[in-house]
Amino acid sequence: MARLTVVTGGQQTVHEITGTTTVGRSAECQIRLSGDPKISRQHCQIEPRGNDFMLVDLNSANGTRLNGQEIGRQKVALNTGDVVSVGASELHFQTGGAVDGANRLVDRVAGFFDRLFGRKGQSEGQVVFGEKTLTCSCGAVLSTAGKNPGQKVGCPRCKKIYVIPGK
Ligand SMILES: [Zn+2]
Repeated sequence: MARLTVVTGGQQTVHEITGTTTVGRSAECQIRLSGDPKISRQHCQIEPRGNDFMLVDLNSANGTRLNGQEIGRQKVALNTGDVVSVGASELHFQTGGAVDGANRLVDRVAGFFDRLFGRKGQSEGQVVFGEKTLTCSCGAVLSTAGKNPGQKVGCPRCKKIYVIPGK
């Protein structure tokens, strides 16, 4: 999913981009910026291509800038957070992919800590016989290697005592 936040004449509107989207002063444009005299009738266009969105200038009189750089006749891929400038207006491009990506990163980090501390399927501080470590509720990792049922393991950090359960 992609959207453009259009800032023109002190006003801000959000447009979902579902297909080829033309920006200009003409009534035929999906995004019509009729109040900006520096914008051509058909100024620029955003086209979906696979998972990408491509920006192309439609031979406009004043050109199209991407993050401050003239794109000229090039067709350029948009990335989330990009700012397209046309006339005195700005188009802020965003994809839902940024949020998805951040969530995937959080999941990956959580998975990494689960593996690191052996927390999967085991609540904090619980002693499982045969495991070589346990994670105390204070976060310290204690070694239980070589301990037998009934023996105690003390946390060096918070002094909590854990008893190794039976087999
Ligand atoms: Zn502890």
